[in-house]
Amino acid sequence: LRQLLGKHTTAAQLNQRIHQPQKAVLSVAELERAFELQNFYLVYQPKIDCRTSSLVGFEALCRLNLPGLGEISPEQFIPLCEQHGLIDRLTQFVINTAVPWFAGFVSSAGQHSQNLNNKVLKLAINISALSIAHSDIFSYLIAQCARCNVEPGNIILELTETAAMSDPIASLDTLTRLRLYGFQLSIDDFGTGYSSILQLVRLPFSELKIDKNFVGTAAESKESRLVISSVIDMAHALGLSVTAEGIEDRQTLAFLQKKHCDSAQGFYIARPLTPSQVEDWVVRHQDDKELARLKALRAL
Ligand code: C2E
Ligand code: MG
Ligand code: MG
Ligand code: MG
Repeated sequence: LRQLLGKHTTAAQLNQRIHQPQKAVLSVAELERAFELQNFYLVYQPKIDCRTSSLVGFEALCRLNLPGLGEISPEQFIPLCEQHGLIDRLTQFVINTAVPWFAGFVSSAGQHSQNLNNKVLKLAINISALSIAHSDIFSYLIAQCARCNVEPGNIILELTETAAMSDPIASLDTLTRLRLYGFQLSIDDFGTGYSSILQLVRLPFSELKIDKNFVGTAAESKESRLVISSVIDMAHALGLSVTAEGIEDRQTLAFLQKKHCDSAQGFYIARPLTPSQVEDWVVRHQDDKELARLKALRAL
């Protein structure tokens, strides 16, 4: 059993795995009520530079907490929103919440300035496949960026490869227009779809995110490590920067650093955080970085 469950080897972790509460099934009526009652909120997962460990930005991730049902996973409510014509409403909520938060964080960065080394931070937002073909969501995003004084160049739109490839011609058109506005485009969950790499890399992406299924198995699987290092080399040869998501341990981060991965994201660095937790994390992260630097100096 322990072998099957892999990393979840402490008694407490095993217990948690075995006694995971059953997933609540969400109805459309409950979903619509969640919009009315404003039960959605956002968390922000920090992303760091692999080489220097400095913060480079955040990914906004949507959460839903329903009275009586508790936390509902986005893996459950996102597809439901997509099926019932509610995804633009959700993305609007994300844009309305994340862009002003990000603008506030950056403008108060004076307080964090020594922590951030005056880096230009970026905010990543997930975009559904359905928004690519036809949607007003992008004019909405452009207006919100202008209102909050956020450069489109500091916004990364994350699209899964399946999303980008479901209609390559429409994608090329929409994505090219978004690039011309200055938005950064990222291929999310790279390696999990079945799309043609050749068609995919002809789209105007600026970043590739290696899926957590490869990253999460890097420590124990030679095959995963080979795939990761080839993907990094390929992406760099194509002029794309690379983020690895789902980093859960130090060895994996060290491996990615060695392979010249650009940015890193995962529980080992930080969990997705509420705005107030982000403030604490930024301060703590700087102390950790300083400590690591001193240790390295001492080791010389
Ligand atoms: P994603 O965009 O690939 O986001 C990464 C997911 O990996 C997040 O799950 C994050 O919490 C999780 N994660 C981060 N670090 C680690 C780690 O070290 N280990 C493991 N095991 N997981 C890690 P989350 O928040 O449950 O979101 C799942 C998916 O739901 C996202 O995958 C994205 O496709 C979708 N999603 C979430 N928020 C939004 C949103 O606002 N809009 C849209 N359209 N989709 C969203
Ligand atoms: Mg994402
Ligand atoms: Mg992903
Ligand atoms: Mg995903």
